[in-house]
Order: sequence, then C-alpha cells, then structure tokens
Amino acid sequence: MELFSRLKVDSHEQIMFFREQVSQLRAIVAIHDTTLGPAIGGVRMKEYPDEDGAVEDALRLSKSMTYKAAGAGLDFGGGQTVIMGDPKKDKSESLFRALGRFIDSLGGRYIAAEGVGTGFNDMDFIRMETKYVVGIPSSRGGSDDPSPVCATGVMRGLEACRAFVTGSDDLAGVKVAVQGVGRVGRILVGRLTERGAAVTIADIDPGATERVTSEYDVTVVSPDDIYAVECDIFCPCALGGIINDQTIKQLKCRIVAGAANSQLEDEKHGDVLHKRGILYAPDYIINAGGLINVADEIYGYDKQRAMRKTGAIKEVLTSILLSARDEGISTHQAADRFAERRIEQVGMVRRTYVSS
Ligand code: NAD
Repeated sequence: MELFSRLKVDSHEQIMFFREQVSQLRAIVAIHDTTLGPAIGGVRMKEYPDEDGAVEDALRLSKSMTYKAAGAGLDFGGGQTVIMGDPKKDKSESLFRALGRFIDSLGGRYIAAEGVGTGFNDMDFIRMETKYVVGIPSSRGGSDDPSPVCATGVMRGLEACRAFVTGSDDLAGVKVAVQGVGRVGRILVGRLTERGAAVTIADIDPGATERVTSEYDVTVVSPDDIYAVECDIFCPCALGGIINDQTIKQLKCRIVAGAANSQLEDEKHGDVLHKRGILYAPDYIINAGGLINVADEIYGYDKQRAMRKTGAIKEVLTSILLSARDEGISTHQAADRFAERRIEQVGMVRRTYVSS
C-alpha cells in the first residue's frame, strides 16, 4: 500500500505502527483529524487476514470517529487503534500495558476507549501506563459501561424521529422491531415497553432473547425475519452493514433508528432509504451517548453532565432531519454536512490568536 497516497484520500493526519516483543503486540493507531481536539477512538482487537486490512480498518474507523465526535458537539478529533490478534486467545496484561506505553508516548494526541474485541478491563491495564484512556471502571474514577447512556441517547433519537414523522414524540403504541438485545438493545427494550411501545425482538444468541422475554412482554422472531416485521421503527442494535441490497427491500417500517455503528453497508443505501420514504437516523448521531459518556472522563467524570449532553441528541437529530428535508438530501448526507460545518467553523474560530 502507498501509505502517503492512502492518507491523502480521506485527509488523514497520521498513522503509527507499534510492535512489542514480549507481549507480541502488533498495533496500528490512525489519527484522522485533530481540528477540534485530541483524537479519541476505540481499540479494536481482531484477527486480520493481512496488514492492509488492518490499516484500512484503522483509517476507516478513525475517520468515522471524527464525524461522531464533531456531531456530538465534543471537542475531540477522530482516532482508532487496531490490535492484530484474536481477542479470545491473545489478550494479556502485558499486551495492553505495552499498548498503554505507546499511547502515552503520543503525549495526548490520541485518547483510547474500548472497541470491538476489547472491554473496560483491558482499558484498566492501559490506564496503568497512561492517563490517555477513557471508559475505565468507576473504582478508578471512570464511567463504567457506557451502554445505559447510549440507550438514553437512542431513546431521545427515537422520539425525535417519531415527532418528525407524526408530529408527536409519544412512543405509546408504537411498534418497534429491535435487532440484537445485547447490552444496549436489552436496555432499550425495557425503556420502550415502559413507554407502552409494542416490541418485537431478534437475536442470534438464544440466551440473550430468553433474558429479555423473562423480563418483558415482547414478541420474538428469528434473526432472518426481523427485517420484514411490520413496524413503525426498525431499531438495529447488533451489527454494522445491515442496511444493504438484501435487507432494504424487506423493510416494512417508516423509520430506521438504532444503536448499531456503521448501519449502512454503503452510502448509497442511505439514498435508497431516502427514496423509499424511510427516515434514517444517522447512526453516529443517534448512538453518540456512549462516546459522550466516556469522553466526559477527560474533564473528571460527571454523570449529570454526560446525561445532559446526551439528551441534546434529540435537538441535534431534529435539526439534521429538518435540514435534510429543506435541502432535499438524505439524512446521512445532512449529518456529514453538520459535522463538517462544525469542524470548519470551530477551526476558523481557533485561528484567532490568544495569549495563554
Ligand atoms: P452487544 O455485543 O452487547 O450486543 C449485540 C447483540 O446483537 C448480541 O446479543 C448479539 O448476539 C446480537 N447479534 C449479533 N448478530 C446478530 C444478528 N445477525 N441478528 C440479531 N442479533 C445479532 O453490543 P452492544 O454493546 O449492545 O452494542 C450494539 C451495537 O451498538 C453495536 O453495533 C455497537 O457497536 C453499537 N454501540 C454500542 C455502544 C455501547 O455503549 N455499548 C455505543 C455506541 C454504539
């Protein structure tokens, strides 16, 4: 791969490769844009078929973090770590501590958070070597699992979408199909049923569905059937890439809005939803509560403040939906414009010299 040419394609600032002998760490840290502040982003641990695949993942995810942080009104840029390894076999204290020392050497240009294949225990090891990590346990002054706050943001987003379509944000009697009832999905089901919504769920893990059915009155369908459920809101809370050529034609909903990251397999699928008259809540706007929560640790974690900022997702999403309608563009494009405008405007403001 011609690295400098690749960095130029999406205007990335930096890419770094770290290797440590004892722990067998092989990690890549990509920094996309630091106009708004230090890059923040997850640590993903995954087996990659080759190094190019790992580089691509780091670059793609760091760019999406730039948009997510900007859209959430945070003063952070976008970054991402990718560890090449099997999270089931290759994790060790020394591996995450080695990564922590490398992250520390960046002097705060990048702040790590948990990602796919890592959890807050791993962040705790990183924390033993650097302060530039968030999403650590409350026993160390952290914010614990971000899922409840993420779910709060998604609820506010569902209200915004519902109000946009019907004029009322009341969720009573609204039919919602939730794909994936893990950490976020299960909390959402609880809050939706409390509000009187009629909920259908699907999960590939029978244990996850059983846990939900033992607590709440919901309908269960198979993972393949969830897309075709007649509902008001299809709520993806499992995987990315689930809005694609195969699934779009099955949807019988008016709104797609949920917690999952990277829901659109490709940008064009956002346009297809738009043409079909299905309102799409851009994923990185509606699911930003998790990021808002962990990022708050940088200021000394304050749950009230994190919840207040997460509550604003309703207003932010509403303004994006309105501008998409006014400009005749799809909602994912409107979200990108919103994030880019903020980066540009704050970047301009910061050109003013102030003595510190
Ligand atoms: P999780 O792993 O706890 O739950 C995901 C659930 O989806 C699991 O129960 C899994 O069995 C199920 N699942 C996987 N594939 C499925 C399929 N094909 N059909 C149906 N179910 C399937 O994850 P989570 O923390 O609840 O996160 C859910 C999504 O939200 C992810 O995309 C995640 O990246 C995103 N997200 C989570 C947070 C957070 O704070 N946890 C924040 C932002 C975004």
